[in-house]
Amino acid sequence: MFDKILIANRGEIAVRIIRACKELGIRSVAVYSKADADSLHVQLADEAVCIGEAPSKESYLKIDRIISAAEVTDVEAIHPGYGFLSENAHFAEVCEGCNIKFIGPPSTAIRAMGDKVAARETMRKAGVPVVPGSDGPVTSEDEALKTARRIGYPVIIKAAGGGGGRGMRVAHNDPSLIKAYHTARSEAERAFANPTVYVEKYLEEPRHIEFQILADRRGKVIHLGERDCSIQRRHQKLLEESPSPIMTGDLRKKMGKAAIRAAEAVGYVNAGTVEFLVDKNGDFYFIEMNTRVQVEHPVTEEVTGIDIVKEQIRIAAGEELGYDQKHIEFPRCAIECRINAEDPFNNFQPSPGRIDFLHVPGGLGVRVDQHVYSGYVIPPYYDSMIGKLICYARDRRTALDRMSRALDEFVIRGIRTTIPLHKMIIKDPNFRRGRYSTSFVERLLNTTTQAGLQLSSDETKSS
Ligand code: ADP
Repeated sequence: MFDKILIANRGEIAVRIIRACKELGIRSVAVYSKADADSLHVQLADEAVCIGEAPSKESYLKIDRIISAAEVTDVEAIHPGYGFLSENAHFAEVCEGCNIKFIGPPSTAIRAMGDKVAARETMRKAGVPVVPGSDGPVTSEDEALKTARRIGYPVIIKAAGGGGGRGMRVAHNDPSLIKAYHTARSEAERAFANPTVYVEKYLEEPRHIEFQILADRRGKVIHLGERDCSIQRRHQKLLEESPSPIMTGDLRKKMGKAAIRAAEAVGYVNAGTVEFLVDKNGDFYFIEMNTRVQVEHPVTEEVTGIDIVKEQIRIAAGEELGYDQKHIEFPRCAIECRINAEDPFNNFQPSPGRIDFLHVPGGLGVRVDQHVYSGYVIPPYYDSMIGKLICYARDRRTALDRMSRALDEFVIRGIRTTIPLHKMIIKDPNFRRGRYSTSFVERLLNTTTQAGLQLSSDETKSS
């Protein structure tokens, strides 16, 4: 096992990884930007190295600075967390080249899944169903139109290098497709320095269901069940739960097998997530694989009792998985609400600033993974997620009641957060019945506005 690792990240995930290190008896090194000097991850780690200015391009994305920090502090491995450099194949290669273990998959697997067009092709060949769409990238208006006419409208144009819901546009007819083609390309160029786009059939009211994978170096690949991440705004996840309310034993078997096949097809090692869309008929289609730990990993941890971050570290250190698929059980229901410093009733405008007062919920079946405290100033430079509230119980109803209770206990004064929106979602009768799709939040917000039920700004502020 490693003696010392560096965490190339910030926020709640850096704190989460430091906790796993402490429990494994591993010393941890934090890196931080000048804006994060007062951060919790800096205070909790055994050592900390400042790696640059506030903008992530000047710090958390600077490979040379991170490698220098790793060498100066003499660590054996780097955990990249999520976001930043976690899916950067070049960074993984540089780490290996410097004799530092990258706590994640081999760079070849990151690369194979990083280009979504190539990943679709690999999946098709491996017999994993993909959403009907273009055979490769679409490089002209004409090609986009031909594909759309073949598969039928509506279609979605997506960026080959995409992520975070960017570079995606839906089109319902020829004129809107031509417009979507150009906007998606320029957005993709700006966000990912890669204008390549492709076309998929736009599935109506699907569910986003993903499978957590663990794979060791010996080639053992297992799954830890699914997470339903259909509660989204602008194609970004807001709330996740497991098991999915629509899951059956049969469907889990089929999707789990496909997820394992997907991981095997790219020689996957470590933790990863295979994402699918499921249509109304229960047919499922691969959309992408995230080759890193995910924000929503605690949901699976609370259902299965497996510590995914510790497993990532153990696998990177060369240990084998100590169990097989048949040992994985799903005895609990867990649900996670992402707490973002955003105003959900004002177009999700970011709301950075000082947290004047914080009270975090507790009690049976409640877990809070976060990095803020009373008096902490949220810098405006990074992602607006400040924490995650996870509630779990033996059945879904109790988990939901617990979440409702915990959301009521959560007090964050000084900024606006997504807490009031989560309260509405948890109370919603359709959500409680498990009847929802990726359009649920948009519809909920529309009805709220139309009915004049919108909460006042003051109410969101004192959530
Ligand atoms: P990103 O990598 O940007 O997160 P994904 O491919 O994972 O993009 O898709 C994110 C979300 O966008 C999905 O969860 C879903 O809500 C929506 N989406 C993506 N592809 C489709 C599709 N073909 N049909 C309907 N919705 C889609």
